[in-house]
Amino acid sequence: PEVARQIAAGEVVSRPLDVLRELLENALDAGSTRLEIEVERGGLGLVTVRDNGRGIPAAEVGLAPLRHATSKLGEGGLDHVSTLGFRGEALWAAAQAGELTLLTRPAGQLGAAHLRAQGDAVTVTRASAPAGTSAAVRGLFAGQPARRATQAPPASEVREMTALLGRYVLHHPQLYWRLTVDGEVRLSHAPGDHRGAVATIYGPVSANRVLPLAAAGISGVISRPELTRARRDRLHFAVNGRPVQAPAELEQAVLDAYAELLPAGTAPLAVLNLSVPPAAHNPNVHPSKQVVALADLPGLAAQVREAVAAALAGVPH
Ligand code: ADP
Ligand code: MG
Repeated sequence: PEVARQIAAGEVVSRPLDVLRELLENALDAGSTRLEIEVERGGLGLVTVRDNGRGIPAAEVGLAPLRHATSKLGEGGLDHVSTLGFRGEALWAAAQAGELTLLTRPAGQLGAAHLRAQGDAVTVTRASAPAGTSAAVRGLFAGQPARRATQAPPASEVREMTALLGRYVLHHPQLYWRLTVDGEVRLSHAPGDHRGAVATIYGPVSANRVLPLAAAGISGVISRPELTRARRDRLHFAVNGRPVQAPAELEQAVLDAYAELLPAGTAPLAVLNLSVPPAAHNPNVHPSKQVVALADLPGLAAQVREAVAAALAGVPH
């Protein structure tokens, strides 16, 4: 059973990047407006996300690291999920892979709760803390030499974690974000709009060149045609607030809208947030939830193409 547990937990948390993503999702699901992230030793030493969200009531905190314990699945089941999390497995998997601590307090509760979970051992004590939650995972895979041995070097994992955080900033620019790596602030973003987020991630020159995009169910920014790069890694899509690996059809729709405005082989910078009804998308395709299945992809692609074309139409070129 020990091995079976490790295998199952490894589907959810196989590397520090997974821990970061899951803790970020929990903080966003909690309605946080400030997220402070700390990473040490490529995330194998420590991954912490501190938020100012709604916290976990002391009476419920002991449930949080139990497998399949989630406060998020309502009556409608998987077809009505409007939160980023829904499986109730992330904290459980984190506690199987390392030492999980939660320091949490809802604003209306006097004291905070401190939870420590490792494997199936869970302890909860009283503590004091600001409202919100600080979730930390320490010593990831310390007890799993095979898993530890196959991890990417810390520098490359930090690069990917920074890139992931950048995508969250781009798609949630109205929040305060800060990332500290081994004691050094790597990224900080003051609440603003999509253009402000582009400034944080790509710098002021890029920010000055993006155009706002707003259509039914789609918001974001796109670059003016002159801002071109011979790369495709600047097309950022989120579905209902979750950064996703966009289906090729949606990327193509953006490129089609630029049509002859861009030299062959180049691609624009685009940050597009899509809002779709919960029943029209399925994030439950892959443990990382970064691959989503979307209903009526051709229809959605047409909407994206039109929205981008409309945003470009206002520009003299
Ligand atoms: P899921 O997100 O799928 O519900 P998790 O294992 O990630 O499962 O979290 C378990 C539960 O712990 C959540 O349903 C939520 O009630 C609570 N929780 C976790 N992180 C936070 C947080 N940062 N703020 C408030 N509640 C949280
Ligand atoms: Mg979660």
